[in-house]
Amino acid sequence: MKVAVFSAKPYDQTFLAAANTQYGNELHFFESHLTSQTTALAAGFLAVCIFINDALDAEALATLAQQGTRLIALRSAGFNHVDVAAAERLGLTVVRVPAYSPHAIAEHTVALILTLNRKIHRAYARVREGNFALDGLLGFDLYGRTVGIVGTGKIGAIVAQIMHGFGCQILAYDRVPNPTCEAIAVEYVSLADLLVASDIVTLHAPLTPETHHLINADAIARLKPGAMLINTSRGALVDTQAIINGLKSGQIGYLGLDVYEQEADLFFEDLSNTVIQDDLFQRLLTFPNVIITGHQAFFTETALKNIAETTLANLTDFEQSRPCVNRVTLPNNPT
Ligand code: NAD
Repeated sequence: MKVAVFSAKPYDQTFLAAANTQYGNELHFFESHLTSQTTALAAGFLAVCIFINDALDAEALATLAQQGTRLIALRSAGFNHVDVAAAERLGLTVVRVPAYSPHAIAEHTVALILTLNRKIHRAYARVREGNFALDGLLGFDLYGRTVGIVGTGKIGAIVAQIMHGFGCQILAYDRVPNPTCEAIAVEYVSLADLLVASDIVTLHAPLTPETHHLINADAIARLKPGAMLINTSRGALVDTQAIINGLKSGQIGYLGLDVYEQEADLFFEDLSNTVIQDDLFQRLLTFPNVIITGHQAFFTETALKNIAETTLANLTDFEQSRPCVNRVTLPNNPT
């Protein structure tokens, strides 16, 4: 099958080409994002394969359908960047990779927690400058602290297990309690109670209308003063301006982000020679107690191999008219 692969970085090409040796699809790689402005590139391709910062709204999908595309294959679990209802109306099939390595994201979450707490980012720079002073590097024992996990699906449950291993008390907020969490004495509470009681709050819920700006000024006001906030889920779960206000007042003591609401204009590109115009993002970078990574939580060999293999299997299911377990349909829980 002829497949147009968008937002294709060299590492995507390597892993997809390796997985494709078993399948023999004709993969055409495009570095650009697929949006309503770039749909012309997909003309003549039965399938398009996209990543998280491609954006398929109703207009883009209508053009794709008109040009002959029938399959939208997502290399991600999340599908908030595709108008699935419009795709259904247009007869387009949408498939995704629901799980490729929840461990990758959970482990990166814990990396952010440990780095922020023990100020490894600052210590690294200091020691290289010959500065061995410890002032400003004081951390706290994780043992005995309370971690609040918002969303205990595949990733949140692994974060719970790891933090349980540190001897933390775990609180969780989810619509559906996860038995693997209950088995390690995770206590399910309301979001308000979680925010009040947690030393560390970490977000692992999908982006939906319900979770959009879940962490806003009201939620920040409920936090323990100086609490740590981590978001490796989707940027729009937090209200960035409210977070900046929280950092300035000290209400938020530490912030770790792997995702950012306006990341589509920034992440995955080398912008080191350009003047970044996003003032909110630039303000975040000025705080010594903030660490931002550019949506790299998923970025492990295991995850890229699994993404490539599941994507190729999804393409084959479609080509051979087999039901695909990874098809995205409505109503569905968007993750
Ligand atoms: P999952 O579907 O296994 O778990 C999501 C959990 O959130 C479920 O338990 C669900 O019940 C819960 N949830 C849904 N709506 C909620 C709400 N309103 N309030 C509280 N809980 C709610 O998904 P997952 O695989 O654990 O992934 C979680 C999120 O991580 C994804 O949605 C995605 O946005 C993000 N993610 C980020 C990266 C990265 O590289 N940073 C990679 C993969 C996934």
